[in-house]
Amino acid sequence: LVSCQGLQKSFGDREVMKSIDFDMRAGDITVIIGRSGSGKSTLLRAIAGLTDPDDGRMVFDGEVVFEDQKRTPAWKQVDSHVGMIFQSYTLWPHMDVLKNLTLAPRKRLGMTEKDALGRAEKALAEVGMADHIHSKPVQLSGGERQRVAIARALMMQPKLLLCDEITSALDPPVAAEVLDVLRRLKEEEGIAVALVTHDMAFASKAADRVVFFHQGEIAVNTTPDEAFNHTEDPELKKFIEAVR
Ligand code: ATP
Ligand code: MG
Repeated sequence: LVSCQGLQKSFGDREVMKSIDFDMRAGDITVIIGRSGSGKSTLLRAIAGLTDPDDGRMVFDGEVVFEDQKRTPAWKQVDSHVGMIFQSYTLWPHMDVLKNLTLAPRKRLGMTEKDALGRAEKALAEVGMADHIHSKPVQLSGGERQRVAIARALMMQPKLLLCDEITSALDPPVAAEVLDVLRRLKEEEGIAVALVTHDMAFASKAADRVVFFHQGEIAVNTTPDEAFNHTEDPELKKFIEAVR
């Protein structure tokens, strides 16, 4: 689904992505782990188009979307089919859940009110939040807000969801519920998920791939069993021991 080839990004003289080669298959859950500052968010932001790489090539769904330091016309595929969710709640506080969900599809896709409502009801049902369609964000718990944030991303019918520490502010059982939503979306809708998380339990049970970032490079890209039980990589070993 996604292929990143030699992605590079520097901020000043700091090389944050050195030469990232990274593939994701449709319908896979890829868990990205690594120390603070190793470049995890920068990679997700580059795939989502929130920041452009300095160099490298990106292929999405079979089409080159970034090459020769610029986006190609096929980039619109990324805009239409990639959703990103963050740690802090990105819902509009003054709008109810329905309005939060329907605003972008109405504006960007010109969807009718009726179609947007239908899609919002379906998206909320998928994350178990159908009863909260008229709630305001302040009336929801942290886990509920993150489920609404996922529903909002689903409004655009994504093929890929990028999730950057979306459960870091949540209690473990609530975090597990949110992550279970992602697992169901993968299984039932075939949506690919790339997830930066410190939740090693989820990583080892739900991930198809585990990617370990170290100093702007992908040091390890393997199965969860390899990553957590058999890795020879000294930095990954240290990292796993530190978070266990
Ligand atoms: P964390 O686990 O703390 O979220 P991370 O792996 O997501 O870390 P990044 O956010 O990708 O790390 O940042 C990698 C490095 O790039 C950091 O040293 C950060 O300070 C730097 N950086 C990121 N964005 C910018 C920016 N817009 N301007 C300057 N430096 C930046
Ligand atoms: Mg980060």
